[in-house]
Amino acid sequence: MIPFRKNFVFEYEKPQVVSPLIRRVVARNGGRFTGPGTGTLIIGHGIVAVVDPGPDRDDHFEALQAALAGERVSHVLVTHQHIDHSSWGRRLADAYGALLCGSVGVVTDEHGGAVREEAGDDDRFSPDVELRDNWSAHGENWTLSAVHTPGHTATHYCFAVEEENTLLCGDHIMAWSTSIVSPPHGHMGDYLTSLARTRDANFDRLIPTHGADIVDPDQFIEAYIAHRLGRERDILDLVRAGVSQTKDIVQVLYADIDRALHPAAMHSVWAHLIHLTEQGSVVASPAPGLDAHYSPAEQTSQEPWV
Ligand SMILES: [Zn+2]
Repeated sequence: MIPFRKNFVFEYEKPQVVSPLIRRVVARNGGRFTGPGTGTLIIGHGIVAVVDPGPDRDDHFEALQAALAGERVSHVLVTHQHIDHSSWGRRLADAYGALLCGSVGVVTDEHGGAVREEAGDDDRFSPDVELRDNWSAHGENWTLSAVHTPGHTATHYCFAVEEENTLLCGDHIMAWSTSIVSPPHGHMGDYLTSLARTRDANFDRLIPTHGADIVDPDQFIEAYIAHRLGRERDILDLVRAGVSQTKDIVQVLYADIDRALHPAAMHSVWAHLIHLTEQGSVVASPAPGLDAHYSPAEQTSQEPWV
């Protein structure tokens, strides 16, 4: 069981002190996938960085301007180009003469072909600086290092606050929910690798963009990984039992959840089926698409996750 933490104490638009170096301003864009709303983070004092400037809302922009009174913004950093994270990036960077830093572009994944932009992508996002792993930004008393964490999207980055051994983790990990891994931009194999990498970095604290912080990262990420692998075993068992299509697997595995969430669940199951195909545990016909038929590959003596 993932030790979810759903209790999150905050006030919309009011800057909240999260740590000596970090403040948060929460936008009024709460919802099924955004929890209480986007928590835009301000790092440092005097010369500051802003992480995940947030959604296209004037009230949020004005709240950020109030929170940034008297500050100089050197960098606006974006974890990934979803509209609830990146939309205000350009406006904020231009208003403060800051560098807009993020990762963008049509990504060609291992399966070949241009990756379709998923719903929720911010098509207008155009950073000044294209992030890469270990890229860093510095201010007075703070250092932010980029950590490439593909999975939720192929170009998702987290940012380590080196002075506080804290990871600003975007949508990679959330305290109140699992993250969405939706092909083709999301990739389950990459996601599991990114989770293990995050666990092994031994951060003291994770700060997601939505909802509460995670103060026991090792235990939490271990449970997150176990949840995904358990779900993958369930899916493999169903394929071996002859349930061959994503939609039918969802009917069994998600029988108890709101049907409005079934489309998202289909994408999650599809991500697992692609991963199982890549590992050679199942075979897709035709290609491993959302509507493909999946069947068990010849069983070997060893399961792929052992
Ligand atoms: Zn996202």
